[in-house]
Amino acid sequence: MTTGIVTTAYLVSGILFVMSLGGLSKQESARKGNLYGIIGMAFAIIATFIKLSLDKDAGEINLQFLAPLMIGGALIGTILAKRVEMTSMPELVAILNSFGGAAALLVGLSTFLDPSNAQLIGSEKLIHDIEILLGVFVGGVTFTGSVIAFGKLRGSLSGKPFLLRGRHMLNLGMLGSSIWLGSQFLNQGHDQAWLSLLIVMAISLVLGIHLIVAIGGADMPVVVSMLNSYSGWAAAAAGFMLKNDLLIITGALVGSSGAILSYIMCKAMNRSLANVIFGGFGTSSGSSPGGGGEVEGTITETTADQVAEELREAKEVMIVPGYGMAVAQAQHVVKDITETLRAKDVNVRFAIHPVAGRLPGHMNVLLAEANVPYDIVFEMDEINDDLPEVDLLLVVGANDIVNPSALEDSSSPIAGMPVIEAWNAKSVVALKRSMAAGYSGVENPLYFKDNTDMLFGDAKDTLSAVFSKLG
Ligand code: NDP
Repeated sequence: MTTGIVTTAYLVSGILFVMSLGGLSKQESARKGNLYGIIGMAFAIIATFIKLSLDKDAGEINLQFLAPLMIGGALIGTILAKRVEMTSMPELVAILNSFGGAAALLVGLSTFLDPSNAQLIGSEKLIHDIEILLGVFVGGVTFTGSVIAFGKLRGSLSGKPFLLRGRHMLNLGMLGSSIWLGSQFLNQGHDQAWLSLLIVMAISLVLGIHLIVAIGGADMPVVVSMLNSYSGWAAAAAGFMLKNDLLIITGALVGSSGAILSYIMCKAMNRSLANVIFGGFGTSSGSSPGGGGEVEGTITETTADQVAEELREAKEVMIVPGYGMAVAQAQHVVKDITETLRAKDVNVRFAIHPVAGRLPGHMNVLLAEANVPYDIVFEMDEINDDLPEVDLLLVVGANDIVNPSALEDSSSPIAGMPVIEAWNAKSVVALKRSMAAGYSGVENPLYFKDNTDMLFGDAKDTLSAVFSKLG
């Protein structure tokens, strides 16, 4: 009877997690999606407690240990989540991934040492041992890899790639020895198998570090999304070991959604995952121009007064936010300007590139935080055709995502990357602090076009000045 209740609760949780992912795919339904996830997790925790209490002896001991740990964990999690800035979100995800990896690794080790598993024989034992191996190996790589990614994103470790000579051979060597040791592990007696498992664990920990130190800091968001996928698969392996269906479902959901997200990010940057993992552009912090051809022409500077004047005369205004809006925290003044213009019957719309900022949905979250209405926020594909009708387009701290060389210069490192075709608008004002390049380190010919003016300064300051003149 109680087992039936637990199974049903797990099923309901699984469905709620799927609904949560569905909800999170659209800005309008993201809050609901989050709520489904919270309810699903609450069901899962309650059901797990009921399951534990079924096991009379172990149940009591486990609850004594579990309850204070869970309350402590929930408290720390709540405080940290409340404190974290939107620009630091990738590093939060990175450290959470490392917890997932460490958990899978520890579950693997403890499952191996669990005496009740000694009774397994034949194919059942083989499958169980493979689950342990996978959990320990993937968990180990995820754990150290995520800690390094966290360090790079936080700036505690250098963002520069650390490239050893023959590093690909070294990685292959580590992978090969883990496979060989793993095959030994499957056929050895308990003590020897334990030693092999510990060596596989040690290799996986080193491999995680070596794989991620070789990747430039600027590529970390894609790497974090990939590690997120690994942590999901590691959790699924732990689910098999613990015979917990919900953990298998949840792990598979995290694993596949992380993989899909990595794919979407790479596609939006016109790069392959292999190009990110084995080094491409983005190996510096992205502030120095380089790559692509030299840009010819002159730039025209404008002032807050002139921009306010142009905005007053415009009927169609488009705002393209980028990473600089996040750095400047300019979303609130962007919203104030939008409100003022809309009150004067100006049609204001936002164009969002899929990889604007430093994580998918970065801009959408900032605009939602500032209460910009969802129905004036459009995806790049929906808006590109409308640009010739736009009277004034404001580029707020965006660079690569509006760079024409992606389409016009086949030798550019970002050639082929889909971009917002800002230059097709009647008039463009680009807001940034200097002529420094963006993430990819490529010069941007948009700034040199005849219909583009530059408004230099921190986006929050310059936009506040524009707002004060808008009246
Ligand atoms: P970019 O990094 O290309 O450009 C941001 C611009 O903002 C810079 O040129 C900078 O110029 C300006 N800026 C920085 N701070 C301020 C400030 N305080 N006020 C005004 N301007 C400022 O960002 P984009 O959003 O255009 O493009 C995102 C890039 O990140 C793409 O190359 C994408 O591939 C990459 N990326 C995105 C991921 C994602 O998931 N979103 C993941 C991985 C990579 P200046 O210093 O002169 O002010």
